[in-house]
Amino acid sequence: MREAGLAKKTSKKSCEKPKGAYRRLLKYVLPYWWAFGLGVLGSIIFSGVDAAVARFVKPLLDLGFVQRNPQFLKTLPFIIAGLFLARGIASFVARYFMARVGRDVVKTLRNQMFNHLLCLPASYYDQATSGQLLSKILYNVDQVAEACTNAVTTSVQSVALIIGLLIVMLSINWHLTILYFLVAPLIAVVIRVTSKRMRRVSGKVQNYLGDVTHIAEETIEGYKVVKIFGGQTYEANKFSEVNQQNRNQSLKIIFTQSLSTIVVMLIGAMVLAATILLVTTTTSRTFGLTAGGFAAMIGAMLSIFKPMRDFTNVNNIIQQGLAGADSVFALLDSPIENDRGTKILANVRGQIDYVNVNFKYASQTKNALNNISFSVAPGKMVALVGRSGGGKSTIVSLLPRFYDVLDGSIKIDGHDIMDVSLASLRDNISIVSQHITLFNDTIAHNIAYGNLDKVSRADIEAAAEAANAMEFISKFPLGLDTVVGENGVLLSGGQRQRLAIARAILKDSPILILDEATSALDADSILVLNEGQIVESGAHKVLLAADGYYAKLYRMQFVKHE
Ligand code: ADP
Repeated sequence: MREAGLAKKTSKKSCEKPKGAYRRLLKYVLPYWWAFGLGVLGSIIFSGVDAAVARFVKPLLDLGFVQRNPQFLKTLPFIIAGLFLARGIASFVARYFMARVGRDVVKTLRNQMFNHLLCLPASYYDQATSGQLLSKILYNVDQVAEACTNAVTTSVQSVALIIGLLIVMLSINWHLTILYFLVAPLIAVVIRVTSKRMRRVSGKVQNYLGDVTHIAEETIEGYKVVKIFGGQTYEANKFSEVNQQNRNQSLKIIFTQSLSTIVVMLIGAMVLAATILLVTTTTSRTFGLTAGGFAAMIGAMLSIFKPMRDFTNVNNIIQQGLAGADSVFALLDSPIENDRGTKILANVRGQIDYVNVNFKYASQTKNALNNISFSVAPGKMVALVGRSGGGKSTIVSLLPRFYDVLDGSIKIDGHDIMDVSLASLRDNISIVSQHITLFNDTIAHNIAYGNLDKVSRADIEAAAEAANAMEFISKFPLGLDTVVGENGVLLSGGQRQRLAIARAILKDSPILILDEATSALDADSILVLNEGQIVESGAHKVLLAADGYYAKLYRMQFVKHE
């Protein structure tokens, strides 16, 4: 029931997203409103100066060249220098402050995503590949930054320039300018149609990019398996297919982008041609212009194409940014681990009770565990034995609440673990698993992982000693300060396991989970699992004497090798 509830909540949230992406992004920009404002102001001034330069052509030709007005010619160099100084400063302010906003938004989003990742339940990690997650954190977030910065700068600049140039044109000859207003709706339609398509396509590009990362990552990590089992062709084909898809979708974006640019340009060019025709063939006063007026008018009309084209492209960047934002927000909205328990476990003795526990993985149709009940007394060791797929790991992962039981309950010292805070629960459990995770850090930091601020160097050494790890550690020139390489590649399997044991010893928690085959024989009692059910339980000798499922398994596993 709990799983169904969560799923419902997620899908409802994800349905609400597309509408809110704009407004949500805006919330991230809000704290930097002053930098954003400066950026916008810079952009407006920058374009204002450009429009002024276009307007300046009229007096330049009429007063400067035709009339040769001495007063005007004297001030000319100062006007030009002043205009370009203002343009340079405005351009700098616009770029710098907008980029600042963008990088701040990226920083905030990345931090939020990473912190959210740390709180996601195991089930999320089961269904998302690390490649997809990485591409969200690296690529999609940057796309959002583009939308916030480049796109805003360019769109403010181009809109301001279009308005500025229109004012210039109106001031020279408003009849001609009307022609521009007539085609404006046509251009708007082109922009609308392309932007819709862009958003759809760019979502796909991101998915394929996630796949590209994912396959590359798997091959890099599993290079030994790929080489030994001759998987090169298979991996190459898989990679080339998603690579091709990524290329196709990216090209679709470029295609749409370029086509819309051409259409807008064509419309503009026809207006320009009509203008030249009108001005040069009619003698009517309506379209009459001085030489400077004509040059300024044509100049303004030609200059208006670039901001128009930029504006259509900017919209595409915004659409890509929004597609990126959708994917970022989808991660931020995925429900985190249920941590509603408030109890804090203190002085745990270690009594563990599983009571009628049933469990099903969300992706499976069959229960992985059925009616599991057993107890572990403080200080005792219980081994879980059974064929693979029997449910051993599942039973174990329910204890630190990597997954939550479907029904039934698990108790530690009589407290239902659902009522205990996750931090307190996990604080009392250590795991030494077969897949030992080591971080690319020193041996000392790996042993003290999570407890660095609480333990002394002597504690770390004592733990390493107790785990029989000190012997090999002291052979390294840097001893405990040796960096182990990514995931401990510099160490042997046995050495890595010793470090994992030292880590568990140092944590000194009341409950220890060992994922290790041979320790079963030392256990106080054995639970035998088959297809998610406990089929037998008891001490090793008793179970052997009973000659049941355990005895059969035991003979298969051990006797054969003797
Ligand atoms: P064991 O540890 O005894 O080998 P597991 O507890 O790993 O068995 O698996 C029990 C069952 O649950 C198997 O059928 C397995 O396919 C399924 N299972 C295990 N982990 C997952 C998972 N993360 N998502 C979906 N199903 C899983």
